[in-house]
Amino acid sequence: MLALTIAATVHISVLGSFHPVQFELQPAQGQTLVVEAQGRTEVLQGERMLPLTGPARVSGRNGAMVHFRLAVPGGVPREYNGRLEIRPSAGELLAIVEMDRETAVAAIVEAEGAAGLPFEARKAQAVVTRSYLAGAHNRHQGFDFCDTEHCQLLKGLAHPTSAALRATLATHGQVLVYKGDVIAAMYSANCGGHTKSLAQTNWEGAAIRQPGYPYFSVACPLRGKASGHGVGLCQMGAIEIARHGYSARIILGHYFPGTSIEAVATRQPKAAATSRTQLSAARAVPMPHTAHLALTANAGTGARATQ
Ligand SMILES: [Zn+2]
Ligand SMILES: [Zn+2]
Repeated sequence: MLALTIAATVHISVLGSFHPVQFELQPAQGQTLVVEAQGRTEVLQGERMLPLTGPARVSGRNGAMVHFRLAVPGGVPREYNGRLEIRPSAGELLAIVEMDRETAVAAIVEAEGAAGLPFEARKAQAVVTRSYLAGAHNRHQGFDFCDTEHCQLLKGLAHPTSAALRATLATHGQVLVYKGDVIAAMYSANCGGHTKSLAQTNWEGAAIRQPGYPYFSVACPLRGKASGHGVGLCQMGAIEIARHGYSARIILGHYFPGTSIEAVATRQPKAAATSRTQLSAARAVPMPHTAHLALTANAGTGARATQ
């Protein structure tokens, strides 16, 4: 059996949809932030808010991950846990948070799931979300993913008592695997009755190049107006299946035929290694055909993109 490892952290660009030129940074309660900006190192504690208008790096003491709040001026602060880097880009500022992969999974599952979802549907979402984080490559330059539907929605940390966090813990490290690789599992809101195979979309050669998971058209228990690309997991259908008492495993087997669910080991990032390298679904023993992962470049659609 192949030992799959995936990176321990992901680099996610946050709040970019606000086209920020300034951020407001605050420690979460009881936290100490170490801020490096303009050649100076500053310690931020208590209620103090620091405006960031240029390149900066923020962490806890000794470069540790830390819990902080970040806002665009006049906006509602969002909470993150990780290490923050502010980079200038095309007249705006990018805020890139390096966060623990499981932290990102929980945050996305929370953003993707309304209150009152069946728990097994949320667990299925957690596995799909983690697979996408581990299996999708070259979505962006200089960081791994954004926080919009271009990649996957993320609106800050999942609440500590949330079902999203419990679903993440209950599926810790689990991903969808096809022919030995983690698949960049896609999902959409409502397939309308049948999901689509890649061959039925117009993304062939664009979104997910072969070899990769081809997806299959499967019947969905829920009809209705289609919303989204209809490839992979149907979120409404998954909820319906879970309401009938089926497990996340059954749901995932239904929407991703031919895949298996495997618990992967976490690879700690090497100091200053590029995130893209970390994200590769590399095997413990390097094998020549891992090179094909590079072929997923220039994906035209995200996990959940509506195109
Ligand atoms: Zn994106
Ligand atoms: Zn459906």
